[in-house]
Amino acid sequence: MAKIYLDPGHGGSDTGAVGQGLQEKNVTLAIALKIRNILNNRYQGHQIRMSRTSDRTVSLTARTNDANQWGADYFVSIHINAGGGSGYEDFIHSSLSNQGVTGRYRQIMHEEVMKQVNFQNRGRKQANFHVLRESAMSAVLTENGFIDHAADAAKLKSDAFLEQIALGHARGIARIFQLSSKSSSGSSGNSGGSSNNQGGASSGAGKTNSIVDYLKSVGTDSSFANRARLAGSYGIQNYTGTAAQNTRLLNAIRSGGNSGNTSTGSSAKRVHLPASASTWRTYPLNVTPVKKNSDWSLTPSAFGGLTYTILAEPYPNVVTIQTGRGRRNIYIGPDTSARRL
Ligand SMILES: [Zn+2]
Repeated sequence: MAKIYLDPGHGGSDTGAVGQGLQEKNVTLAIALKIRNILNNRYQGHQIRMSRTSDRTVSLTARTNDANQWGADYFVSIHINAGGGSGYEDFIHSSLSNQGVTGRYRQIMHEEVMKQVNFQNRGRKQANFHVLRESAMSAVLTENGFIDHAADAAKLKSDAFLEQIALGHARGIARIFQLSSKSSSGSSGNSGGSSNNQGGASSGAGKTNSIVDYLKSVGTDSSFANRARLAGSYGIQNYTGTAAQNTRLLNAIRSGGNSGNTSTGSSAKRVHLPASASTWRTYPLNVTPVKKNSDWSLTPSAFGGLTYTILAEPYPNVVTIQTGRGRRNIYIGPDTSARRL
């Protein structure tokens, strides 16, 4: 279930930019509500939360805190530009490249919006905006025309044009998260999310094929950000949330981290680091596993506990595991909360 956070810029006492008889706060809200309607009417497999649904003052911090606490997968902030120019542009945070997950999401948003509007294309940009910096998930900020440019403003006064802007955003979001269309031709009982599944993860009644549903069922944060961290810890590189990666991640978690191959079979010994442990020191393989030699820490509590296949036991109660940073030793003696499986 993709969790989409829509953030209509400004609101209440903050009008945003004004020009040509328009106030930015009203245009951004109209567009965001239309995006929500399109997504809810035409697609399934998502949830939407909005920073505001009326003309209300909401601080930037309140917006990002709300999205972070909700565990959004994508933060979409909608704005109208001003200050001398014309056309559409969008932003990701200045620390991010176009090749990363957020950059690739933005590319899709950019393409889909530009398909729907006859705005001049001002390009894909980066900035250190609060909502891009303080959001814990991928985030994009779109600037949909210039409110103080006569031709842009004339378009923004047209409800049909705002609908086109919203359609572009909605199609971008739907493409990114592979939302399935609501079709009149009977969706069966288990439609939600299963259409995204390409790999045969199904292994019996009562087991879900959705990584998000699985994580929720074990009480673990299922946001994109946390899934990306989990994927890293299981050695899945460049996690973007594709169906194939999700299937691999689900299988990896279920099999205790042995995601790449099945050769070790069921005889593999595993160790579980419980959710009650906030950190767990790791040691490079070529050093004595004492505190001063620790190079990193796992964070079992962030994942509702972590389970690893034991690859070797070079010292008593010191085992070698595969982590997101390669093989590491960890200490799992009886004085710790680790449990051998
Ligand atoms: Zn703005």
